[in-house]
Amino acid sequence: MTRRVWNFSPGPAALPEPVLQRAQAELLDWHGTGMSVMEMSHRGADFMSVAAKAEADLRALLGIPSGYRVLFLQGGAQGQNAAVPLNLLPPGGTADYVDTGHWALRSIAEARRYGNASVAASAADRKYTYIPRQDAWRLTAGAAYVHVTTNETIGGVEYHWTPSTGDVPLVADMSSHILSRRIDVTRFGVIYAGAQKNIGPAGLTVVIVRDDLLGRARPECPSVLDYGAQARADSMLNTPATFGIYLAGLTFEWLIAQGGVDAIERVNVAKAERLYAEIDRSGFYRNPVDREDRSRVNVPFFLPDERLDAPFLAAAAERGLMQLKGHRAVGGMRASLYNAMPMAGVEALCDFMREFERTHA
Ligand SMILES: *Cc1c(COP(=O)(O)O)cnc(C)c1O
Repeated sequence: MTRRVWNFSPGPAALPEPVLQRAQAELLDWHGTGMSVMEMSHRGADFMSVAAKAEADLRALLGIPSGYRVLFLQGGAQGQNAAVPLNLLPPGGTADYVDTGHWALRSIAEARRYGNASVAASAADRKYTYIPRQDAWRLTAGAAYVHVTTNETIGGVEYHWTPSTGDVPLVADMSSHILSRRIDVTRFGVIYAGAQKNIGPAGLTVVIVRDDLLGRARPECPSVLDYGAQARADSMLNTPATFGIYLAGLTFEWLIAQGGVDAIERVNVAKAERLYAEIDRSGFYRNPVDREDRSRVNVPFFLPDERLDAPFLAAAAERGLMQLKGHRAVGGMRASLYNAMPMAGVEALCDFMREFERTHA
């Protein structure tokens, strides 16, 4: 018998069960071809139709207008941390970065291999428990772009607003909350996300880039990271992550069947409210993030004594509540509530938390 657990992993994360079942059913013989999607030529009509459908569904879900290209690349979000300056930061130029925590710092460190990355604002002063308001940002006149990490997966802080950067392209690492909420794509120059949180399996990277930002790559930019070159090649300059694109496509179809991004956003709001209410209820559990900046999808929380961490995780695992250990940089617990986590999983976690509190307070 197959046993499925409530999987709160921050990534690679749980996928919707119907997606896995469909992939299983189609694994040996995709649509009468007698082969798996994994075994097809990426340039054949069958796979091209899979990729085209995935792109069309993603465009519909996020409302991506013409004037933007969707690229299905590899190298993860961290590959994009290099791709962004290699495409958009001219030699001698400066890019502005907003430091909201672990992943923003990784983006900054990577950009500094290629040029000037100025920290326009940092939340380090309060241990990354908030998003610096835009009126406190020190932006560079003539910056090549402004980079933000719109959801910090480890610290559990999220932008619930979109920065305004005028004519300067806004670049966003949306790895951990893309498709969890409605966004206005037209406010951004580049959006990128590793697939393994809310899109599909690890190995696929989704990049959404405005047309005027194509064709600006520096000569030394690796071709596979060159937005213009990849756009011209329909993301097939090298062999793309074919199975990842297929699974992402199945996830997009599933999301459309759920009612799309607006519908899943309502569920995500309800899930987050339920869990934060449980954390805030008694004072036994604690989340240090400013309320207005709390992430809906990554919820770190702490027990009153870290000696309770191991017993909490062990008792949770007995209930099938898995992968709740916080990142080592932060400690404590973290529940990731991406689209594939239903309200029932959050209810099960909250019931367990209440019982654990009763027996350990
Ligand atoms: C997971 C994550 C990354 C790292 O992604 P890779 O695909 O492993 O490079 C970067 N940024 C954010 C916000 C993430 O959540």
